[in-house]
Amino acid sequence: MNKLSAPVYQDVINAHQRILPYINKTPVFTSRTINEITGAQFYFKCENFQRMGAFKFRGAMNALSQFSEQQRKNGVVTFSSGNHAQAIALSAKLLGIPATIIMPEDAPKAKMAATKGYGGRVITYNRYTEDREEIGRHLAQKEKLTLIPPYDHPHIIAGQGTATKELIEEVGKLDMLFVPLGGGGLLSGSTLSARALSPNCQIFGVEPQAGNDGQQSFRKGEIVYIDTPKTIADGAQTQHLGDYTFDIIKKYVDDILTATDDELISAMQFYAQRMKMVVEPTGCLSLAAARQLGDQLTGKKIGIIISGGNVDLAQYGHLLS
Ligand SMILES: *Cc1c(COP(=O)(O)O)cnc(C)c1O
Repeated sequence: MNKLSAPVYQDVINAHQRILPYINKTPVFTSRTINEITGAQFYFKCENFQRMGAFKFRGAMNALSQFSEQQRKNGVVTFSSGNHAQAIALSAKLLGIPATIIMPEDAPKAKMAATKGYGGRVITYNRYTEDREEIGRHLAQKEKLTLIPPYDHPHIIAGQGTATKELIEEVGKLDMLFVPLGGGGLLSGSTLSARALSPNCQIFGVEPQAGNDGQQSFRKGEIVYIDTPKTIADGAQTQHLGDYTFDIIKKYVDDILTATDDELISAMQFYAQRMKMVVEPTGCLSLAAARQLGDQLTGKKIGIIISGGNVDLAQYGHLLS
């Protein structure tokens, strides 16, 4: 298969038109409390209110709606235990495309059930002895399925960029933008939009401190691989950035910051108590990092991407108490 060309802002515009009939236009919230504490103006883009509970629906819908007739008939396959699995399953259902999701056999029951609930075929594997990418490629070949990976794909990146496009179109140019970072689909897409619509905006990717491969990669100038990190931010437990995502990140992002699990819990409590919102740990990365900057925020207009709200209720209760 020919390599697709790297996405540019025009691809985000096209993606937005394509997915607009399907996505929720998520709200942008403010908080007087945080503005008073920081002396800044915060704007929260709430992708926890996106369909299936995270921004990943944007990228998945953009990728699947570009399938050819033949690809639609044969179906899509992906590997993910998290939000990308549900995003692909839901998008496939809406478009009438058969979906196969490869998940670890010990994936949370709720996530597996949600994926099956959207009509996806779930194939499990042992994450300690088997390689999911290998299984995905094998299945794709055998059944002529199209493999859509969670982040390193131009259509995924362009779709994810639409959240920041909406944010800046709604509130105007920003001084700083904070974006959660796993494999970099959201950050690279957001960067395309921010550089086009608010060129002087400082762009920060935010990773869990235990899994700072993106920060290491950014500093080193090449993709760094790490072991699966231990963190409550399960949406950002990726081991490395992608080729497409890193290319955009290294050129246009200002810095990569990190947040500890304790800082994530504190942000999660803030969202629950002050803003009455359920935000999953990974979705708390942006606010957790912004709060570290203290005086640097004064007088600034800040964009915060809240990436998702899918958290196991028992775990959520435990973390909040
Ligand atoms: C996937 C995910 C991320 C990270 O996105 P990448 O495109 O992999 O960087 C952040 N937050 C949530 C809620 C996610 O599901």
